[in-house]
Amino acid sequence: MLTDRFIKEFRSHSNNELFSFNSFFQTLASQTPPKVKIVMSNGYDASTGREAILINFYKNPQFRSIDVFARSTVEKFVQFLESKDCENPSYECQLIFMVHCSKAKAEYSFFETVFKNFNTIKIVEYKDSYLENLLLKIKQNDTIVKAIKSSVFDFGAKHIDKDDLKPIMVVFFEAQLNILNGFASMDKIYINLTKINFLLETIEYYGKKQNNDLILGLYFTRLAIHEMTHVLLRRKLNDLNVSSPFLEQKNMEILGNDFLESGYIAEKKIFGAKIDFFRGLEILNFDYLNNFFRDVMENKSTLNFDLKISRCQISESVPIMAVDIDIRKKREYE
Ligand SMILES: [Zn+2]
Repeated sequence: MLTDRFIKEFRSHSNNELFSFNSFFQTLASQTPPKVKIVMSNGYDASTGREAILINFYKNPQFRSIDVFARSTVEKFVQFLESKDCENPSYECQLIFMVHCSKAKAEYSFFETVFKNFNTIKIVEYKDSYLENLLLKIKQNDTIVKAIKSSVFDFGAKHIDKDDLKPIMVVFFEAQLNILNGFASMDKIYINLTKINFLLETIEYYGKKQNNDLILGLYFTRLAIHEMTHVLLRRKLNDLNVSSPFLEQKNMEILGNDFLESGYIAEKKIFGAKIDFFRGLEILNFDYLNNFFRDVMENKSTLNFDLKISRCQISESVPIMAVDIDIRKKREYE
């Protein structure tokens, strides 16, 4: 097995302080392994997922260009591959996160952060029903459903029903990954509660506590639209490890030169841009946002968001790949 071979490779150089994936990748080169399809229709299979991660790394030119990591950085990942605790929901959540990260068009510091912290992801129970109820409203909002449907359609997913969004569940986790907002599987959206708590602290810092539910609601709406788009696309293409959420060349020409990522495109159809709700809190037009949010909740027939009037700040993050993260410096990861 490929995973066993990788573990053996890592363990056989235990005296070195650095570790390079290169010699393992060289052994793969002669086999040209195909990308692993992850179907998940009969539950998830940890060994398929682990193999998919290693092959994704191998096929990722940005990852391949990294010569070495500190051995201690990769150690947690190897322990994760060796783990027998695969039925643990937190393990499954970490595995899905790693499947996405292994495809990221990112640089060394991103992968270092991921290796060091991915195993801090822990599923938690979120007692507050506010966001779960909000998700029901979002799934029933005709304008939002239409935006999601047309986004996945552009990426090759056909035959989409309104009911396709219904079974999507929300799961909350905590993690020492403060750049991470959330990600998704083929039937769930995973939301970082640590980040939500940070948002609430930020709102309080700016003295806007009376707008907690509004800002949290809008932040969650944005994120749910983004992640449900990924869920729907993966379901329709029947692959969690779907080749790329970015557009194929031919669609790229149709939609123009934008951040060509399905979740981002769906968000843009509602908000006109990807909004960073952590910034600009002191100057937001709360009256306007309140009215807009009420329209979402009441499923008003038209949903018009005017970015300028709202005074919301556009996110400077560049979408990297299927995980929703905030990276402030533009073009840091491409
Ligand atoms: Zn995305």
